[in-house]
Amino acid sequence: MTGSRSTLIPLTDVWQWQQHGNCQGMNEAVFFPPTGERGHARMMRERRAKQICSSCPVLNKCLEHSLSLPEPFGVWGGVGESERAILIKDRRRGGASRVA
Ligand code: SF4
Repeated sequence: MTGSRSTLIPLTDVWQWQQHGNCQGMNEAVFFPPTGERGHARMMRERRAKQICSSCPVLNKCLEHSLSLPEPFGVWGGVGESERAILIKDRRRGGASRVA
């Protein structure tokens, strides 16, 4: 048998940080855009989501998760879709991709 058991991580460990997020139990519509959402409505929804994220105890883990997959939709770690796309491009080019 090849391979190592030590490389296998239980899925519950990978996602456990989410149980400590401020968004737990909240309506996910705050974090993910409905079909066709644009302009002012989108800006206000993202602003609300980012406000919730700003005091989240797992913000850094959430952001890193969203950058590493990468997650294409929604606000993760206080970062919206368009901002995350820039960070991902920067990371692929070898940039630090830090969010202040
Ligand atoms: S950073 Fe935001 S999206 Fe991520 S777990 Fe916390 S509240 Fe939820």
